[in-house]
Amino acid sequence: MCGIFGVRGHPDAAAVTQLGLYSLQHRGQESAGIAALDRVGQPHAVKRMGLVSEGLLESEMETLRGGALAIGHTRYSTAGSSTLENAQPVLARTRGGHIALAHNGNLTNATELRFELEERGAIFQSTMDSEAIVHRIARASADTPEGRVAEALQGVEGAYCLLIVLGDTLVAARDPRGWRPLVMGELNGAAVFASETCALDIVGATYVRDVEPGEVIAVDASGVRSAFPFPRQEARRCVFEHVYFARPDSRIFGGSVDRARRALGRQLAREFPAPTADLVFSVPDSSNSAALGFAEEAGLPYELALIRNHYVGRTFIQPSQNDRDSKVRVKYNAVREVLDGRSVVMVDDSIVRGTTTRGLVAMVRAAGAREVHMRVSSAPITGPCYYGIDTPNREELIAANLSHDEIARAIGVDSLGYLSLDGMLASVPTGPSGFCHACFSGDYPTPPPTDPDKLRFGCGC
Ligand code: 5GP
Ligand code: SF4
Ligand code: MG
Repeated sequence: MCGIFGVRGHPDAAAVTQLGLYSLQHRGQESAGIAALDRVGQPHAVKRMGLVSEGLLESEMETLRGGALAIGHTRYSTAGSSTLENAQPVLARTRGGHIALAHNGNLTNATELRFELEERGAIFQSTMDSEAIVHRIARASADTPEGRVAEALQGVEGAYCLLIVLGDTLVAARDPRGWRPLVMGELNGAAVFASETCALDIVGATYVRDVEPGEVIAVDASGVRSAFPFPRQEARRCVFEHVYFARPDSRIFGGSVDRARRALGRQLAREFPAPTADLVFSVPDSSNSAALGFAEEAGLPYELALIRNHYVGRTFIQPSQNDRDSKVRVKYNAVREVLDGRSVVMVDDSIVRGTTTRGLVAMVRAAGAREVHMRVSSAPITGPCYYGIDTPNREELIAANLSHDEIARAIGVDSLGYLSLDGMLASVPTGPSGFCHACFSGDYPTPPPTDPDKLRFGCGC
């Protein structure tokens, strides 16, 4: 998964972008980067592994500052491709001028696109699917920047939200299914784009509207132009953005993430009440709002029973980290005063492999909990995601391999309740139709990628 941010028409676009990236950090912690035009219109890119706060050194930022156009990216990839070459934005200098690109999503025909380009002599510097889009833009012949982008994207399948710098034009594009969120805002006359509205808030921009599925928007000195150059397709917004990924202070897909999570929690309490429980707590931070909704509906007190350490650092949150049990101990502590002797409802937004959950349940019991009732504010995850969220393959997904009772035993709980698929879709704003729920339902909107190693050439973001 990734976060993207861009601004055109601000006197210090790179500084605004850096600020915006801070509030998109949850969408990717492995690398951060900014590409910008400097005071004289020359393009530069700064990319670093790590967080925005530790990655982008002020001395490097200096080379970017003072220009009116910048884009930025935060990245969370899959194991094996967490390298600086794969950090974004991608910056290329071509015969037709510079191209800088930031991508959130995952292309489902990345392998075919890449082989086709390689056969025609293209040389790739990374294993990112996004680089294929840059090559295709470089080869496009349309007259306008947005025309070149639209031409390059014909035949590109899967999920993308893109921010692209072509000359001094900023182009924003969202795939026709609209899997990932992208919003447009305004800051003192400058156009701002971001994955989520929390990034508009942090820079002081006002929300204008969502970039629509299938829309390509160009911003240059003459203003804002919009086009819908692709055949219309039914929208497939990712329901997991509301469940887990986005920040609760954001509005995405035209609705509030906080309201979505509260509604998910309330629906969960209706579907799977826990009549013997004394209190409700969340697995912070991603399930806080859902647990609040559950507590409100159930009429139970909401307690802080798990404390999350926010200072652990990336050593313990890298995707390649295998020792997940020690990861749990380093990341969470249980509050004995809250748990001792009580019957508790533990709410989490999702169970993926089940390893974190098992470790947490053991921790909660060790702190004295008498009964543990696990409630999950999404349906069981039974399949991988091909559209930009890094869920593992089926073999590693606990709900794809074990029955309901077996999962309850494996994670060590007294009772287990997953929200139903219908309940989940009915709870999200602007639902129930128009959402992707493939990893929960098996209803994939596209054929699976032909490459069995689904992310060999994917950015996995
Ligand atoms: P599990 O018990 O499956 O090992 O972990 C479940 C936890 O992982 C939940 O707290 C959930 O919020 C979190 N989670 C769900 N999806 C993702 C993801 O894509 N990346 C990360 N880092 N955590 C996730
Ligand atoms: Fe979202 Fe799941 Fe669809 Fe992926 S498969 S886009 S995580 S709903
Ligand atoms: Mg969580």
